[in-house]
Amino acid sequence: MKTEVLHADRHSLALAADLLTSGRLVAFPTETVYGLGANAEDRDAVLSIFQAKGRPADNPLIVHIHDRSQLNRICIVPDKAEQLMDAFWPGPLTILFEKLPVIPDVVTAGLPTVAVRMPSHPVATAMLKACNLPVAAPSANRSGRPSPTTAAHVLEDMDGRIPLILNGGPCEVGVESTVLDLCHGVPTILRPGGVTKEMLEDVLHEEVALAGSILRPLQPGEKALSPGMRYQHYAPRAVVTLVEGTEDAVLSFLKESYRQASRRGEKACVLCFSEHLDTLRECCPHEIGSRNHPEEVAHRLFSVLRSLDDENMESVFSEVIPPEGVGLAVMNRLGRAAAFRIMHAE
Ligand code: AMP
Ligand code: MG
Repeated sequence: MKTEVLHADRHSLALAADLLTSGRLVAFPTETVYGLGANAEDRDAVLSIFQAKGRPADNPLIVHIHDRSQLNRICIVPDKAEQLMDAFWPGPLTILFEKLPVIPDVVTAGLPTVAVRMPSHPVATAMLKACNLPVAAPSANRSGRPSPTTAAHVLEDMDGRIPLILNGGPCEVGVESTVLDLCHGVPTILRPGGVTKEMLEDVLHEEVALAGSILRPLQPGEKALSPGMRYQHYAPRAVVTLVEGTEDAVLSFLKESYRQASRRGEKACVLCFSEHLDTLRECCPHEIGSRNHPEEVAHRLFSVLRSLDDENMESVFSEVIPPEGVGLAVMNRLGRAAAFRIMHAE
């Protein structure tokens, strides 16, 4: 199959709508990452998403809509969700709802809840309007690869597997949406993203809990609240080690670790803040953004992780940011890329 990459315009959006309506797949930009979409009501179309990605069938998809009136058909909406949708839609917040039968079980991996979000990217909105369907879409990467934040990343993973990639430039947020469970008592963040715990608490006027496995691996026998958390999603081939501690201790530790890895003959690098590029210039530094701007780190992270495989890195040592605000989403993705291997520099 030939994969076309087209800039989003009237012609390509009409083509995308035709493809989606006829059960085919379209990759499209959102403000978080690129999604791989299919008509959420078409079981076979949804199955082909799992095939194209090599995604395990027990990892459910997020359904994307452009108008809240679409919700009535697909799920049951509790009052609490209304305030959240008023505040954060369109935007990077996914909410779990009780599912209605029009959504096939393949979308939700057999779960009674369906995850729904209204993206804010103008191309996503235009595509969803043009087809006027609920669109099931996970991130448009091959399973196990970092999520794509440019059309070129999607092409790397999906060339020959899907008919169309809509190019809308680089994604602004850069990490996937916040997934919030409102169906089981205390509102709980299953996956941190661009809408932070603090922002949710401000609107709900109550405490929001964090799923246990956000900053550590699942324990043996522990049930994943969000099936995606079971999988080692964001792992590059390199062994990644996170280094925490005071600024000076971390910088010394990074230099020494890089030196030792190089001496062992490994291809090594460090992931560092813009502020430390110069200090670490002899350690093959890869810039992850400013330490004072977690949004910038989120925006760059997946691109940097992808480059590690492109450069055949074997040993990677990374700085960390405080797990607050968007920093929590960054540390969740970085933690998983490192299989939660964290060293404390003294
Ligand atoms: P992706 O689109 O690749 O970011 O994947 C969507 C993520 O949303 C999955 O990893 C799931 O863990 C999560 N998700 C989707 N539907 C549900 C659901 N019904 N319950 C819990 N988590 C869900
Ligand atoms: Mg994904």
